[in-house]
Amino acid sequence: MTEAIRTTCAYCGVGCGISATPTGPRSVTIKGDEAHPANGGRLCSKGTHLGETVGLTGRLLHPMIGNKRASWDKSLDLVAKKFRDTVDRFGPDSVAFYVSGQLLTEDYYVANKLMKGFIGTANIDTNSRLCMSSAVAGHNRAFGEDIVPASYDDLDVADLIVLVGSNTAWCHPIVYQRIQAARAERGTKLVVIDPRRTETCEGADLHLPVKPGTDVALMSGLLAWCDQEGVTDPAFIADHLNAPEGFWEHIRTGHDLWTTAKTCDIAPALLEQFFKLFAATARTVTLFSQGINQSIRGTDQVNAIINVHLATGRIGKPGAAPFSITGQPNAMGGREVGGLASTLAAHMDFAPENVERVGRFWAAPAMATKPGLKAVDLFRAINEGRIKALWVMATNPAVSLPDANRVREALEAVPFLVVSDIIADTDTSVHADVRLPAAGWGEKDGTVTNSDRTISRQRPFMALPGEAKPDWWIIKEVGRRMGWRNAFAYDRPADIWREHARLTAYQNDGARLLNLRAQATIGNEAYEAMEPFRWGGDKPFEDGRFSTPDGKARLVLAKQMDLQEPLQQWPMTLNTGRYRDQWHTMTRTGLSAKLARHREEPLVEIHPQDAGDLDICDGDLARVQTAQGNSIFRVAFSEGQRRGEIFTPIHWTDQISTGGRTGLLPRPLVDPHSGQPGFKLTPASIEKVATE
Ligand code: SF4
Repeated sequence: MTEAIRTTCAYCGVGCGISATPTGPRSVTIKGDEAHPANGGRLCSKGTHLGETVGLTGRLLHPMIGNKRASWDKSLDLVAKKFRDTVDRFGPDSVAFYVSGQLLTEDYYVANKLMKGFIGTANIDTNSRLCMSSAVAGHNRAFGEDIVPASYDDLDVADLIVLVGSNTAWCHPIVYQRIQAARAERGTKLVVIDPRRTETCEGADLHLPVKPGTDVALMSGLLAWCDQEGVTDPAFIADHLNAPEGFWEHIRTGHDLWTTAKTCDIAPALLEQFFKLFAATARTVTLFSQGINQSIRGTDQVNAIINVHLATGRIGKPGAAPFSITGQPNAMGGREVGGLASTLAAHMDFAPENVERVGRFWAAPAMATKPGLKAVDLFRAINEGRIKALWVMATNPAVSLPDANRVREALEAVPFLVVSDIIADTDTSVHADVRLPAAGWGEKDGTVTNSDRTISRQRPFMALPGEAKPDWWIIKEVGRRMGWRNAFAYDRPADIWREHARLTAYQNDGARLLNLRAQATIGNEAYEAMEPFRWGGDKPFEDGRFSTPDGKARLVLAKQMDLQEPLQQWPMTLNTGRYRDQWHTMTRTGLSAKLARHREEPLVEIHPQDAGDLDICDGDLARVQTAQGNSIFRVAFSEGQRRGEIFTPIHWTDQISTGGRTGLLPRPLVDPHSGQPGFKLTPASIEKVATE
């Protein structure tokens, strides 16, 4: 009997522990890890069926230059030479990496070190930009650091949980199960704020179907209500918060119940019910995800939520916190090593002292001194001819970025494109000059950090297939071939982990920020045996001190977006999101026949009355048109859609199957603070497609 290996799920930011028992060279039995704090043995459908996705169908097994198989030596030499020549000729800002929350922390660390410390530019951004960068910006504005001030344990002791912009039942199913357990065992109340009536609402006490884009108005209205009803905490406000000039006048003007209800387009009685419940419940967790973050006002929306928690003193206490939940398995680990173009390692920004400190630690020859291009701007820079060499790691921007037709033009136009991935032909890699075969889930070895800051090991239980190599190995080999042999002399992931931990200790000087000092001298065996642990403590801000210069958190004057602007001449708005049983662009979940049964094709959901007005029937094919492009979907009537709004799923690609392509449709507009694209609100139209 083969021993079970304890590892972590490949998919979402819940970060469930998995017990994997190999049953053959490419087969495995999957169970939930009962000892893991995130899931206690539970798994959702995606995690349960991971075993169906470890076969070699579609795998990239050898390095490829063009369409010809090549040796690792030749391929790595070519990548190193092209990046070196491009930097020599056009400067460091002419090259870029676009990486992924699928990378392990060790992979992310090496990629960032190579780009920001040695190549000399911060043009390394990640698909996590599309996932949680508004939360990062909101945390930094409010707390002076990027830390999620909550954990899953808070869900077990809260009396009220408010889900904002989150179809938790489908997108973070184990968190949803935990919430439902709290409802059953403790009578915890659940409120869902979402324009759509999703499956999450079925287990809720209250659903507020707000007009899309009105979250700032809603949260400001809630704060005004708390202020008026004496629910704010004057002592906490005086001792622990700073407010910008005019903040309270702004909240107290135009945010009464009636005005807020009108702006949010919901019944005043329903809104009042929520406000009263919130006001009466000190132990409240407000959990939010993409409906808040993926907006051109994402950061203000995040801060509007945090404002309410700060002003009511609902932070730093059991069961009371704002809680941003991440989409990807290692979005948080990426934040820790500076995986965003706008950050340095260990959550630092590009302040000169931080640049100097990281540069000294790395003995970096060409330290980047300013933030690089964020995802949407990065691909725009390619279209403008400013980026000449691009390396895409473990992600599929040809499908996942907004205005995907322009992204595809960029991938075709960039003079040198490298893609490292597990899949041979993705919509992105078909444009590549060089394809490098990477290790996949079950082969990778390293760490990930989930939404509540719990660091867990991902452990391998299968041999690397063909000539596939771990991402950290591929990146460090390119670094060594570019001339930095000693700086990239890692033999194993534990070497990188120790260096990352040393850097966090070196920069922290004992402050509360991510500090892995105890991990800096961990031995190889101890790294192997590492148990899940949470950084930042169980209750950040318990002492009422924040990481701003004066120790006070900041209330932020959040601005409600202009709701007239998005529509202009378009009759509908398009919202996008996920299905329960698919993950991102389906490169892995698309391999599972059982998962495919849940939804066999992408559907455009529309309210039956809107469809009737347009002479569209349930099951018809319809073209969804935006200013960026169009795509054809099968129509599904849904009473859960608001009038005037349609919804499509993000997953389907040209390489996987036929069906609607959501990525072609959204606008490439971003939040000004975070650079996160606004996927949730695109002006659109829909018309029936005539069939024979
Ligand atoms: Fe995996 Fe997320 Fe499902 Fe847990 S909830 S099993 S991490 S997909």
